[in-house]
Amino acid sequence: MTTDVLQIELRKAERSRIQEVDFNHLPFGKHFSDHMFVADFIDGQWQNQMIVPFDNFTLSPALSSLHYGQSIFEGMKAYKNEAGEVLMFRPYANFERMNESARRMCMATLTEEVFMGGLEALLRVDADWVPSQPDSSLYIRPYMFATDTFLGVAPSKTYRFCIFTCPVGAYYTTPPKLKVETEYIRSAPGGVGYAKCAGNYAGSLYPTLLAQQQGYDQLIWTDAREHKYIEESGTMNIMFMIDGKLVTPATSDSILKGVTRDTILQIARSWGITVEERPVSIDEVINGIETGRLTEAFGAGTAVVVSPYALIGYNGKDHMLPEFAPEDSFAVRVKNHLTDIRTGKIADEFGWVH
Ligand code: PMP
Repeated sequence: MTTDVLQIELRKAERSRIQEVDFNHLPFGKHFSDHMFVADFIDGQWQNQMIVPFDNFTLSPALSSLHYGQSIFEGMKAYKNEAGEVLMFRPYANFERMNESARRMCMATLTEEVFMGGLEALLRVDADWVPSQPDSSLYIRPYMFATDTFLGVAPSKTYRFCIFTCPVGAYYTTPPKLKVETEYIRSAPGGVGYAKCAGNYAGSLYPTLLAQQQGYDQLIWTDAREHKYIEESGTMNIMFMIDGKLVTPATSDSILKGVTRDTILQIARSWGITVEERPVSIDEVINGIETGRLTEAFGAGTAVVVSPYALIGYNGKDHMLPEFAPEDSFAVRVKNHLTDIRTGKIADEFGWVH
C-alpha cells in the first residue's frame, strides 16, 4: 500500500548484529536494530528517503535543533503473532500525534507516505529484530529535528526525520514509588506539554532526580497554577480505580494524549466499566486511599504498558496503595487483554492492529 508510493533507497548492512543480542535479557533502549529509515525535508518537501545501516550522523555544530530545541519524537511498539507476522499497534495514532507536535513546535509536518511508508519498509527489512518472547516487543522511535545551520531564533527551513528500532523486554520490575511534585512543573496551560518535544523531557530530569534522592522512583505532576490537581506521572498518563470507576485526568494542552490511555479507556468502556475523564485532585486520591475507596493507581504508556504503583508520597507522608491479587485488578486484566490484542492472540475488535 503506502510503500508502493514512496521511493525508498535501500542500503543494507554488510553484516547483521543480531547474533550479538541476547533476546532473553533485553534492557530497554540499548540494542539497536540493523537499519534506520531517514528522510530530509528540503525545499518544502520530503525527499531522500533511505533505509541505511544504523550509524552516526554527521552534523553541523550550528545545527539549529541543538540550540533552540526544534526536536520531537514518538514511541510505539511492534509485536510478532504466532504465525511470525509483524504487527504494529495503532501506528496512525502516533503519526497524528507526531504532526500535532510538529505544528506546535513550528516544524514541517510529515506525510502519511513518509511516516507509514518508512515505518513499514523498515520493519520489513528488520523483521527478524521483532522479539517473540513474552513481554518483549520492538520499540520504535520515530523522531524529527531541525537541520538548518543558522544561529538565529527562527523556525528551521530544513528537517530530518528518522526511525530506528530496539528490541525491548519488560520495563519495570517492581511497582514504583511515586512522589507528588508540588514545586516544579512539567507543563502549563498555553505551553507545550501536549507535544512530544525533547525539551519537555530535559525539564523533567532535575525534579525527578530530587525525588529519587528522597527514595522515590517517579513523580506525579500536578497542575501549574495550584498544584492541586493531578496531571501525569513520569512519562505516563495516570489512572485510578475509585468506587469501581476508572478515573483519569481529562487531556488538555498540558497533558500528553497517550495512545495507551485512549486504548485502556476504550477497553474499559467496552467491558461496561464507568470511565470518568475529569479533574482529579490530590486530596481526592489521598482521601480515597485512606478510606479504601481508591483501590488502584497506575501509569499507562507505551514503554511500560501498565504500571501499578506501590505508594504515593505527598507532603512528606507516604500513602501505601492496597495490595491486590493481580488477577482481580483492573490494571493487570487490561494489560493482559491489551497484550493479547497486540500480539494477535484475540480478535482485534477495535481495528487497532496494523
Ligand atoms: N505522557 C508522557 C509525557 C509521555 O511521554 C508518554 C509516552 N509517550 C505518555 C504520557 C504515554 O503515551 P503513550 O501511551 O502514547 O506512550
